[in-house]
Amino acid sequence: MLKATEITPAHLYSFKGGLKLKHHKRDSLDNGLSQSSIPDKLYLSLRINRGNIANPIVAVGDNVLKGQVIAKPDTTNGSYIHASSSGKVTAIGIRETASPNADYATVIEITTDKKDQWCTIAKTHSITEAIKSAGIVGMGGAGFPTHLKYQGNNIHTLIINGAECEPYISCDEQLMLDYPNDLIDGITLMMKAADAEQAIFALEDQVGGIKSQIDKIIAKRKIEHIVVVKVPTIYPAGGEKQLIKVLTGLEVPSGGLPLDLGIIVQNVGTAKALADYCKHGRPLLERIITVAGDAIGKPQNFSALTGTPISHLLQQAEFDKDKTERLVIGGPMMGYAMPNCDIGIDKTSNCILALSHENTQHHGDSLPCIRCGKCVEVCPSQLLPQQLHWYIKGENLEKAREHHLFDCIECGACAWVCPSQIKLVDYYRYAKSEINYLDYKRTKSDAAQIRHEQREGRLLKIKQERIAKRKRTKHRSKNPDKMKQDLQATLDRVKKAKEQKNEPK
Ligand code: SF4
Ligand code: SF4
Repeated sequence: MLKATEITPAHLYSFKGGLKLKHHKRDSLDNGLSQSSIPDKLYLSLRINRGNIANPIVAVGDNVLKGQVIAKPDTTNGSYIHASSSGKVTAIGIRETASPNADYATVIEITTDKKDQWCTIAKTHSITEAIKSAGIVGMGGAGFPTHLKYQGNNIHTLIINGAECEPYISCDEQLMLDYPNDLIDGITLMMKAADAEQAIFALEDQVGGIKSQIDKIIAKRKIEHIVVVKVPTIYPAGGEKQLIKVLTGLEVPSGGLPLDLGIIVQNVGTAKALADYCKHGRPLLERIITVAGDAIGKPQNFSALTGTPISHLLQQAEFDKDKTERLVIGGPMMGYAMPNCDIGIDKTSNCILALSHENTQHHGDSLPCIRCGKCVEVCPSQLLPQQLHWYIKGENLEKAREHHLFDCIECGACAWVCPSQIKLVDYYRYAKSEINYLDYKRTKSDAAQIRHEQREGRLLKIKQERIAKRKRTKHRSKNPDKMKQDLQATLDRVKKAKEQKNEPK
């Protein structure tokens, strides 16, 4: 592996597959960063992504202050949850959450007093302890508790991920524009905690003057061993494994972690969160989130408290409900459709996207797979997406696992190009959650809470999907012309795919 200082565009590698996508980031960036107001209610989920569960240490009726720990992790793998503003705990129960793999989880509802009154934050003695006390998790989407990455491993390189590759999402770019000094402070602290020799700060080559701005700060502060590198804008270059490949040429082994290569990858937001705690004593209570899409009157980035309801942010961004066909948390590729707007954002929520019918990719129901192979060509994890789909459809989950289902990064590139409009990622997510559930059952682990919440969530989702499908069919039968148009469009897509398949090479 090259030294960070020796990396030039000519020394970059490429990963297999990927897509070139339109960015749609300018609108939100042009409107700049706004401070969201404090909502009447905060909904703080006690589960962030897979397995990261905390147990409440407050009860309904308790008064809480901003920064107060309200839930503690049940294992070393979790992270603390803090009250993001002051007020009263008015409910604790299972609700829908913004977390990708935890549709349902225990949520603490705080009715705010709008005073935003802080508690006293205890001092910590080491950076790793600070990361844990601040409740810092990976803010790029994975939500992995950050302190677990700094546990005496042999780390030589820290990669700072500023390659925000999904269309519409611009929260990281906004953060780099507005807080470059805090960012460098955070990176320096992380290097110290990991005892890393070098840090590579990766940006997409489509970003404007951020590189020169950060280069200037590094030079002015005479910081050594942090190098800013621009990488080609190909989706999903910001995926952890893909970014490592592009920068170093190294491949994270199947089922392995970057730590196996002596590398830690951290999102820019995570670095700033650490600086906020170490410099200002502020735990992770707030994050930048993009609110965008063609059904948003004023697309922009908000600095918002964790637990802020989606509806509260939409309202501030001039949301057009009638124009919206699809409301998503996350980007158009990896995001999740939201069943309602009274869901609180969490530490990993990077975008709320409201798209009209014209900008929604999947219309109508999926067709059978025609084995065109397009999904294989674009898969950055070198998987066989159609094969995985086949196994999962046949409930052959073990076969899907054998074919490296868990290497799937759920980037959505396969579903994006599929002419049959098969919602491939939904199959992979379902299979992963089902396999995890079966594994827990097999090992009789203490996952009763996860089982209960996930099953409740799935059952409700199935019910909601059935209702939506019924509505769609009803709508179509009332519009025979629309039905004909949809059918013709689907037939055209299949015909085109077949023609392309038969083209001589
Ligand atoms: S792109 Fe869709 S239709 Fe083509 S092989 Fe993959 S799953 Fe099948
Ligand atoms: S979602 Fe999974 S299978 Fe599909 S392209 Fe991405 S990594 Fe490959």
